Amino acid sequence: MGQEKIQPGEIVSLLIAQGLLSEENARYAMRVHAKLGSGKTLIDTLKDLKYVEAEQLKEVLRANHLSLKIGDLLMELGYLSREKLNAALSIQKGQKNKRLGEVIVENQFMTEADFIEALSVQLGFPFIDLVTEEIDKKLIENIPIKWCISNHFIPIRKEDGKTLLAFMDPFSKSDIQGAQKLFGSNFIPGIASPYLIEKKLEKVSAGRLRSRADVDENTAIGIVESIISSAIDQGASDIHIEPFEERLQVRFRIDGILVPFKIFAINAANMVTARIKILCKANIAEKRRHQDGRMSFEHDGNNYDLRASFFVTVFGEKIVLRILNRIDQIIRLDHIGMQPKMLDRFKKDVLTAPSGVMVITGPTGSGKTTTLYSCVSDIANPQINIVTAEDPVEYMVEGISQCSIDTTINRTFDETLRHVVRQDPDVIVIGEIRDNFSANVAVNSALTGHKVLTSFHTEDSVSALIRLMNMDIDAFLISSTLSCVLAQRLLRRICPHCSEAYKPTSWDMRFLNYTAQDIGKYEYLKGRGCTACNHTGYRGRVAVFEMLVLDEFIKAAILESRASYELRKISIETAGFVTLMEDALSKISKGITTFEEAFRCIPRLVPPRPVHEINRLLGVI
Ligand SMILES: [Zn+2]
Repeated sequence: MGQEKIQPGEIVSLLIAQGLLSEENARYAMRVHAKLGSGKTLIDTLKDLKYVEAEQLKEVLRANHLSLKIGDLLMELGYLSREKLNAALSIQKGQKNKRLGEVIVENQFMTEADFIEALSVQLGFPFIDLVTEEIDKKLIENIPIKWCISNHFIPIRKEDGKTLLAFMDPFSKSDIQGAQKLFGSNFIPGIASPYLIEKKLEKVSAGRLRSRADVDENTAIGIVESIISSAIDQGASDIHIEPFEERLQVRFRIDGILVPFKIFAINAANMVTARIKILCKANIAEKRRHQDGRMSFEHDGNNYDLRASFFVTVFGEKIVLRILNRIDQIIRLDHIGMQPKMLDRFKKDVLTAPSGVMVITGPTGSGKTTTLYSCVSDIANPQINIVTAEDPVEYMVEGISQCSIDTTINRTFDETLRHVVRQDPDVIVIGEIRDNFSANVAVNSALTGHKVLTSFHTEDSVSALIRLMNMDIDAFLISSTLSCVLAQRLLRRICPHCSEAYKPTSWDMRFLNYTAQDIGKYEYLKGRGCTACNHTGYRGRVAVFEMLVLDEFIKAAILESRASYELRKISIETAGFVTLMEDALSKISKGITTFEEAFRCIPRLVPPRPVHEINRLLGVI
């Protein structure tokens, strides 16, 4: 056979480069190996000659495996003949997406066991026996399984902050790079049977499909049904359905405060959102833009109107459903919580006046819409025409013409107001004064003999006057058309099941600038907290009001463009006017709500008068 040329090969070159083998010894080993001509490899001969120790060899291979080609390595280590390697390489050429290791095992140039042994024993990639090894379920839940399938690895578990990954072929640069995209350099590449990796990945991905199927259309219908029904039963005003990384959280707003309802697995999110979108006639396919919608919902024989908002967050669409009220939920004016003398005056001087603008003001969630509807239903009768422009219609009132603004079809607020005045109205309801235009429509309609009911967004009654004066509306127009500004807040009611006596503290007194005499001898109460009130001490809410009727003194002050503190001073001197804080103090003295609640919700603009004085002004005995 002549003299066979023996190439030192990559491993031997590496050993020489690392100083573990002298060139002289290498040449000698090559000569011996050529003479033996057996099935042994050059590496075996080096070991036999004790030029290299098995452990040394492994160390060098492990440290340098990235610079070695797997084919040459397997050949040098004696796992593959040159012929078989060449055959494997040419097969691989025709199957570009296959890795050499895969081709070698598939075409039985090497057994899978030998291949794994070569890589784990010689190169030190930890061998992972997938028959016995448990896969960390939590770990794999958060990993895109398709990515694992296309990059031929499966995550096993965390080890010292790094993730152990089982690769079919840890020599595959593209697979390693695929893993790097998910884990950075924070992983330990291991090796496992390609067949078992494939089977495990199939199982995980099928499991995912199954758990996705757990929340099928029918389940989603059930979930949505139970969320909305429970919210209505618990008296919630809003439902929040919020996706996070691993959960879908549902909370209800009850008495103004968000309380947790339930947490669902995140895989329920898509179906639940789709179901609500169907009910709201929103676009199911659109997931990247915010959307609005509206639906009606039947529960216990009643129909409820719900307004939906779909808001795109980083974890998906957050849904807020506002439960709008129905006509039978409109509170009669006598029951909205106005104290006797205030209610009397409100009815006589404000509601029965044939024209003028009545403004209800307060921040969002202060109950002004409820009061607005109580007023509308109080004055509605077959002899008058009431037309509304609302965004949106929140309560349906029998016998009046309500229009809901819909900007998506260009039925804007301005456009609607222009048409409302041509509808021969007696009473115009403008959902909210939001700009100069709507303010002007309100004032001009009142000037032409209409009665206008509207809402505004300010802290208190005097601030509403000031804001109108700053809206480029002639002071004369304001003073001659505005009939009343009603400011309000909702305070939580003391839970009747756990209320107990409360002695006002020195802190309460200081806050109010009160003496013991000012606070008087009333039966003050506070909720201890019980199961009926979710241990909050509160259940339900009560409105507090501040009614500013524009009398001659206030009108004169407006014409003189007086400052807000002067307007406040003049109002208080006006007979019958009590501030929000004063009305709250009266209700506290009746054991309805607490000092704490009033201090939390109401601005303190002027020091309140003594409680007995307030009660006298309000006609509370
Ligand atoms: Zn209670």
